[in-house]
Parts: sequence; structure tokens; C-alpha cells
Amino acid sequence: MAMTVTSNTGNIGPILTQLFEQAPTFIALLRGPDHRFELANPSYLNLVGRHDILGRTVAEALPDAAAQGFVNILDDVYRTGTPYKALGALFVIQTEEGGPGRECYLDFLYQPIRDENGDVCAIFVEGSDVTERTLSERARRESEDLYKGLFDAIDEGFCIIEFMDGPHGRDSDYVHIQANDAYARHAGIPNVVGQKLREMVPDEADAWIARYGAVLKTGEPIRFQQELVATGRYLELAAVRIEPRERRQVAVLFQDITARRRAELALEKLNVTLEQQVEERTAELMVAEEALRQAQKMEAVGQLTGGLAHDFNNILAGISGSLEMMNTRLAQGRVGDLSRYINGAMGATKRASALTQRLLAFSRRQTLDPKPLNINTLVDSMLDLVIRSVGPEIKVETVGAAGLWPTFVDTSQLENALLNLCINARDAMPNGGKLTIETGNRWMDERAARMRGLEPGQYVSLCVSDTGTGMSQDIIERAFDPFFTTKPIGQGTGLGLSMVYGFAGQSGGAARIYSELGKGTMICIYLPRYSGSIDAADPEAEASIDAPRADGDETILVVDDEPLVRMLAVEELQDLGYSVIEAEDAPSALRLLNSSRQISLLITDVGLPGGMNGRQLADAARTNRPDLEVLFITGYAENAVLNHGHLEHGMHVMTKPFQLDVFAQRVKSLIKPQG
Ligand code: ADP
Ligand code: MG
Repeated sequence: MAMTVTSNTGNIGPILTQLFEQAPTFIALLRGPDHRFELANPSYLNLVGRHDILGRTVAEALPDAAAQGFVNILDDVYRTGTPYKALGALFVIQTEEGGPGRECYLDFLYQPIRDENGDVCAIFVEGSDVTERTLSERARRESEDLYKGLFDAIDEGFCIIEFMDGPHGRDSDYVHIQANDAYARHAGIPNVVGQKLREMVPDEADAWIARYGAVLKTGEPIRFQQELVATGRYLELAAVRIEPRERRQVAVLFQDITARRRAELALEKLNVTLEQQVEERTAELMVAEEALRQAQKMEAVGQLTGGLAHDFNNILAGISGSLEMMNTRLAQGRVGDLSRYINGAMGATKRASALTQRLLAFSRRQTLDPKPLNINTLVDSMLDLVIRSVGPEIKVETVGAAGLWPTFVDTSQLENALLNLCINARDAMPNGGKLTIETGNRWMDERAARMRGLEPGQYVSLCVSDTGTGMSQDIIERAFDPFFTTKPIGQGTGLGLSMVYGFAGQSGGAARIYSELGKGTMICIYLPRYSGSIDAADPEAEASIDAPRADGDETILVVDDEPLVRMLAVEELQDLGYSVIEAEDAPSALRLLNSSRQISLLITDVGLPGGMNGRQLADAARTNRPDLEVLFITGYAENAVLNHGHLEHGMHVMTKPFQLDVFAQRVKSLIKPQG
């Protein structure tokens, strides 16, 4: 070890010399106003990296120090006599070899030394190299700043808690030692740092201690949601232990999810009430649907009423007329003829009861009650009703397949469906047309079945086709929808086809629409074949009555499609001595009217089949026979056809049923006296 005291005075005591030599701090003495090195210890020489500085001025020996302003400071100290102290001052040392300078941070003191006169004569330099400390401090500060910046910038609330011993034992409380800005925002608790849990929320403290205490104990991070009762907030939290465990610290990261939680709760509640609402609406809808179904049935019934009234009136006319004729014959003693009238009356009664039967069947409301059925039988039994329902302008034809397979179906519902289809067909043919009811056996292969939404197999079809308006593709697609109607309010319910569709589906079958705009429509119901047999029912026997003919002076033309009514009228008139000719519809009546026959009176029903009603017949007849007297007989609500009772001169009306003698008198009054 070199023990040389670098001094040009040589009068420093040996202990001081040793101290000077071995001091870890750097020491130098600068003499005179130009700061000439008089003393410099090894630490100093090491620091500046040179050994040839004694006797030289600072400016000469260390030009880089001069360049960095240190000489100026020395000048000031020398001039003013005021010491100068620097902490962590940067000094870039240019070593002898040149190259990039070495950065050091120095704590040092420039202490002026005065002579006997009190004048500054030298400067004592003492300091230490704090580069390492400064750099590590700076690094720490930077990382702290970074941490703090992050800490404050993150959106999540963040705090560090430190466990402490409380009245409830070791680690039974904690204090918040750090919290970021978001903490107050999320937790709703300002200035939390320094606050102790048990003082903040005494009631909730145990729960929090249990949670975070477990993290502290086990080192297992946790994540959970928790309501802060005190602030009414809902938080999502995560907690991790800060290592090492001896720090007794846990970091807590959390977010206020109150808004989300409220939305979730509201949604949950909404879902519950929504279900309830849907249930209520569905119930309401079902009630409304039921009501509408009922209304639709009532509508169908209403549409039938007119036809039925007509039908019953004709039957009644037949019965009462027969009875009156029997009365007359009895009075005349012609009892041989009586059985004819009795048969006539009985036949009419039978038809009345058949009608009543249909009506009862129609109004029956039942859940599906399927029975083996031959649809041909059903069609036959419905025919009367259908004909009455569609009115006389529409010709009804049935094509029942021979050997039709039986099916297993609710009869009254199928009747209802058939009627719905017929009424729709009627509505599609406001100017008359042809309605065909057709049955058939169908083998459906994979493809045919798939097209109709069915399983492949054997089916029975019931198709109703019309020559009406037809349906566009758009309407076909929606026609089965409940409540879909193209008819004016009050006329259509939109439930007819949906009933047909639903019923067919429920019966294991399907319903399909085939339609061409402007040409017509066919709607088919497919029902699965039934493999069992059917007990045969007695077919209804209808009485058929022939109308007799007789000669007379005046000729009267009687037009009525009801043979019995016509027969009674004809016979009554013949009894009165008139010559009577008859026709069952307008075209055949017109043929007679266009002939040269003398005809004094036209008696006609208003509702006639074959596309021309009684009123139109009368108008046509009067083009050739302008003076022809006309008597309309009607049992139907046909006011509109008869211009609401405002009839032309020479036109008269009688409502069925009527007494035959009243009828006779009326006729007599209309026949022009033979001139
Ligand atoms: P609604 O008869 O009360 O209107 P539907 O369900 O019976 O209700 O029929 C729905 C719609 O389908 C009708 O409004 C009509 O537009 C159409 N439609 C049904 N049948 C026929 C048909 N035979 N010809 C033309 N269009 C029809
Ligand atoms: Mg309908």
C-alpha cells in the first residue's frame, strides 16, 4: 500500500495523514485564486482518473471540470467566502486516454479557508461519489412513478391493505395503506388511505376479514362479487397476496358493476314478468280466439239461417198445403187421392227432421271425437245444407270416389271444415259458378307426402273446388294464417281456413290449396286411411212426387225448383179450373215464355237455381210480354232482389207459407178477365 502523503507542505501529523490517505471520501486543497492543487488524497485521484495534478491549477489539470462550470463555482466561493454544497451533482469525467466521459454523481463541499487576516486563501474540497446510490434511486423513482402512474390511471379501483392485530386477535383488522383515484369512484369511499376496516364498516368487517384473511393465509388469489351494504354498490373484486407473506399485505382490485348488476336484475325481473305477460296475453289471445271462433261459427250459422228459413218454409208449405188439399178432398168426398198428400206431407216432415239433424250437428261444439267414417256418407248428408248455404246461383256437384277408404275423424268438425270450404267457395263466386266436392283414395309416396307435410302412406282426400276468383301466390301463402282475411270487416273472420288447417293437422292429415288467379281454387283435406270397418247406416229415403197436369181456360206458368211446392200450387190452380204449365228453373221457364202459348200469369219463386233468379226471369219475360202479370212467391229474405218491395206495375209478391185459399184469391184477382 502506498503511504505517500501527497503534499507539498509536509507538516501534517501522521494520524491525520493516515486518515487522509485512507478516507473513502475524496479530499483536496486548492490554494490561491487560481485553485492550484496543494493536496489530493487517493480517492480524489481515483475519481478524476489522474495522478499528475498537484501544483497545477484546476483549469489546467482538469479542463473538463472547468468546462462543466466547476471552476466558476470555485471562483465564486473564493471571492465571496461562502461555502458551496452540492448534492448529487453530475460530473462527467474525461479520463486521460480520452474517449467518452464517465458520468458520476457527487455530493461535495467547497469550504473556503481563510488566512490570519481573515482573507480567503484556499478552498477545501471534500465529497463522495454517490453515483451508484443516485442511479439506483433514480431507477427506483422511475419505477415508482411508473407504478404510481399506472396505479392512478387504471380504471379499476385498487388498494393495498395491510393486516394488523385488532381486538379480535391477530390479523383481525386491516388498514388501507394505498388506494388509487378510481378507488373512491368505485367504492364510493373518499380518503380511504389510513382508514381501518373495523372503524369504517364494523358490521361488515368480519366478512371482509374472512375473505382477505384467507388470501393472506393461503396465498390463493380470489375473485368474487359483493354488495357494499354501506354504499349500496355492487362490486366485482379480485384479491392477491403481496409477497412476502410477512408484509401482511393484500392487493385488491375491483370494479363497480352496480349499473351492470342493476341491468341484469332488471332483465331478470323483466324476464319473469315477460313470461307472465306472455302467459296473460296468450290467455287473452286464446279467449279472443275462442270468441272469434265462436263468432265465425255464428257467422256461418247466420249465413245458413237464410237458406234454412227458405228450406223450412218450403217444407212447411208442402205440409200445410198437403193438409189443406186433404181437407178439400175430404169435403169433396174424393178420399182415393188422400194417400198422395199424406205421403207428400210425410216426405216433407222427413226432410225437415233431416235438416234439423244437420243443424244440430253443426252447432255441436266438441273437442275432437274421431270415429270411423266414410267421407262420402258425410258429403251426401251435408249436400242439402251446402246447397242451401251457397244459394241458388251456384251449382253444386259431388264426385264421390267408388270404394272410398274409411277414415278416422271427428265427424262434426269435418262437417264444419267442409262447410267453411263451401262458404269460401261461395264467397269467391259472387256471380255464381260451380262448386265441386270430390273425394278420393290417395297413395302418397315419399315425395308426394313430403310436399304436403305428411308421412308417406294411404290417405283419403276431400277436395272442394270452385270456379271463382282464385288466389294469388301471396294470398295462398297466408290463407291458412289465423285472422288472415281479404274480406271486408264484419264479413271475414280469417278463421275458416285456419280451422280447416288446424283440424286436418290434428287429425293426422293436412290441408293444401291449389289455386289459379281468375280461374278458381281447389282446397283439399287429406286424412289418414282407417284400417277398421264401418257399420253401414240406412240411407235416407226421399219421397218423390210427380206433378199432375190438367187443362183450363187461363194458362198460368208456375216456376219453382221445389217439386212439392210446385205440385201443390199447380194442383190448387188446376182445381180452380186454370190451365197450368210448370218449370223448375228460369231457363226452362223462358223457353215456355218465348213460345206462342197464351200465358196469363207467371207465378215464380225468387230463389231459383241455374244462374237466374225469379226477378231476372220476370224482367226477361216482360221484354216479349210487357203486360204479363207476375206473382213472386218467396220464403227467403230476398228483399234486395225484389227491390225492397218497390215492385213495378203488374208485379206482386206473396210470402211463404200461405194458406191455399188466400193464394187462390190472389191468383183470381190477377188473372185478367178473358176479353
Ligand atoms: P275468411 O273467409 O273469413 O276471410 P278464411 O280463413 O276462410 O277466412 O279464408 C282466408 C282468405 O283466403 C279469404 O279471405 C280469401 O281471401 C282466401 N280464400 C279462401 N278460400 C278461397 C277460395 N275458395 N277462393 C279464393 N280465395 C279464397
Ligand atoms: Mg271463410
